[in-house]
Amino acid sequence: MIDFHTHTPAWRSASWLAGAAFDADEFISFMDDSGVDRAVVLSHDGLFDPSSQANDELAAFVARHPQRMIGFGSVSPRRPDAVVETERMMSVLGLRGIKLHPWLQGFSLHEAALDPICETVQAAGGIVVSHDGTPPYSTPAQIAALARRHPELPVVLGHGGLHDCWREALAAVAQTPNLYLCICGTPPYAARYILEHAPQHRVLFGTDAGLSDKPSQDYAAARVREIAGWGITADQRQAMLVDNPQRLLGGR
Ligand SMILES: [Zn+2]
Repeated sequence: MIDFHTHTPAWRSASWLAGAAFDADEFISFMDDSGVDRAVVLSHDGLFDPSSQANDELAAFVARHPQRMIGFGSVSPRRPDAVVETERMMSVLGLRGIKLHPWLQGFSLHEAALDPICETVQAAGGIVVSHDGTPPYSTPAQIAALARRHPELPVVLGHGGLHDCWREALAAVAQTPNLYLCICGTPPYAARYILEHAPQHRVLFGTDAGLSDKPSQDYAAARVREIAGWGITADQRQAMLVDNPQRLLGGR
């Protein structure tokens, strides 16, 4: 299976999201124990300070196991070097997309500065993942508006709307052909409803591993086990955990 939403440890930020210290090998142990073949890894420090240093550190982390971990960098659209940094992370660092966190990073998805960033990601065959589910910034409808401005770019709702916006997330995905929904931190009752009603080929799964307070990532492992209680069919499981992420990321 492919876990589409995990994080590096917080090396430099005093993150209120906590998170244990762990190295790449310990992270691979979590993946092995949970049956995760490949993981999309997002920066933790970059959530708070989307700097080139955070992207370099993320790239070094995933480079320890390049067959298993796929890095997505981060940029702040209001910084003058945002497009250059996006280009660098895709072509030099070998990252596969960007993670936006409008809520923590303090910008609106309607800002025009996002457009050349999205064009750069798309030109490199990449993917945009955005945090979602926490108004006022990061609502699914705002992310869907960005996706509609770039109809050829795959855009992922990183959290399926969480508790407050999952109905909006489902509606946005139904109406936006290049919008994907990652069930990650989405409450189980919502996950069940989403699986029943969302286009099956645009649902993904993520654990948010890396934010756990233990190197063993117990909380993330519990999220993998939770899938069995969602009334998921074999077809839905294959689509969400294997076919859909594989189609987006390429490779095996
Ligand atoms: Zn996350």
